Amino acid sequence: MNTKKIIIVGAGASGLVAAIGCARAGKSVTVLEQNNKIGKKILVSGNGKCNIDNKYINLNRFHSQNPDFAAKVLKGYEFPVIEKFFSSLGLALIEGKEGKMFPMSLQATSVVELLEYEAKRAGVHIVCNCAVARVDKKGSTFILETSQGTKNCSQLVLASGSPAAPQLGGSNSGYAFATKLGHTLTPRHPSLVQLCSEESWVKKCAGVKVAGVAKLYANGEYITEKKGDILFTNYGISGLAILDLSREASTRLANFDYCELHLDLMPEYSKEKLTHLLLSRVQKESEKPIELWLQGVLNKKLITIILKHSRSRAKQEKELNRKEINKLVHTIKHLKLSINDTRGFKGAEVSTGGIDTSEVNPQTMESKLVPNLFFAGEILDVDGDRGGFNFHWAWVTGLRIGDNKKDL
Ligand SMILES: Cc1cc2nc3c(=O)[nH]c(=O)nc-3n(C[C@H](O)[C@H](O)[C@H](O)COP(=O)(O)OP(=O)(O)OC[C@H]3O[C@@H](n4cnc5c(N)ncnc54)[C@H](O)[C@@H]3O)c2cc1C
Repeated sequence: MNTKKIIIVGAGASGLVAAIGCARAGKSVTVLEQNNKIGKKILVSGNGKCNIDNKYINLNRFHSQNPDFAAKVLKGYEFPVIEKFFSSLGLALIEGKEGKMFPMSLQATSVVELLEYEAKRAGVHIVCNCAVARVDKKGSTFILETSQGTKNCSQLVLASGSPAAPQLGGSNSGYAFATKLGHTLTPRHPSLVQLCSEESWVKKCAGVKVAGVAKLYANGEYITEKKGDILFTNYGISGLAILDLSREASTRLANFDYCELHLDLMPEYSKEKLTHLLLSRVQKESEKPIELWLQGVLNKKLITIILKHSRSRAKQEKELNRKEINKLVHTIKHLKLSINDTRGFKGAEVSTGGIDTSEVNPQTMESKLVPNLFFAGEILDVDGDRGGFNFHWAWVTGLRIGDNKKDL
């Protein structure tokens, strides 16, 4: 029975980096991956381009019940450290908007293939189609029941991610292993996820995308707002602005709060500027139907909704007086949409919550409760904003495990 080895559960972002670091430090490393191939989330990330990191790492882009832990983990592991690591693999990075970093090839496959090459070169044994079903610890040995038989190790890294995107391998199993070994979990909710609405009008606008501002209200209280694409869909609403506020919406919906979005469909125009624009377009004698007149400024599918919500009485252009214009302006800048759910983990990029980080050493990522048990990546109660911050967390926690192994 070979117990002098490290087993890593999960060949995703954090598991692969941890494996490379440990193997480079001369350790015997096996990675067990339930999928038929490694790094499935990396492969689809950034629409296949992989938003690998963000140049502007800032604590306020990470969320946790224990921000102090995230601060300690991230300290000393800013973007240049990650860039250096990828450079050691032969991967060059380029900068996109807002500090977002991408592989220079703009192909996520480059990231996975170079990680795989380096892992194998350093001696990592990667086993795909190997789902870990159960983890026990007897004495100083971890015993793993897997779909390919029982495996033992003296050190175990749980890098099995979160339940987000189960179609790519997202799973709760790491949480189950950790809780069985004595760890506790903080509440988990889908994040970076689309939102659902039961309002029938939204379906009629399916496919319409506007560059707007979405404001989130919970029980009538203003929570947050995000600017960016807003996409109406047949289930509700999506787009980057919506994903960016979905963390707040998701946690509040889980608390049964009444959630509502107030959408500004023309944020580039202040109320006054939009009023002026619309008034200046009114021709006093025109009998043009109001629906057609509004097509001059708004997407056709949105017009019926705007007219209905504004309770406009005008039927023709010539009936548009200041009062009617004000009603239209108010609705265009404050279109209300109630939200009743998220699209769940299936639609989510990440999960909030996870392993309670007060039980983990932020320098080594080792459990404070179970010696030789380590955690990396999203399994921990830390999630990041869209823009490369989630991968940053995965790379850093993986690197910390590898760096620590040098000193053992
Ligand atoms: C569609 C999508 C797009 C994304 N785009 C970006 C982006 O552009 N930038 C960014 O920063 N973040 C992005 N993310 C988030 C990012 O992918 C994750 O935060 C990151 O992959 C987490 O790394 P991890 O190592 O913790 O988990 P994962 O990468 O999820 O890896 C965990 C691995 O463990 C395996 N596993 C789980 N349970 C078991 C088990 N019992 N036995 C064996 N194997 C198991 C899984 O199959 C999986 O391969 C995206 C996520 C999704 C879903």
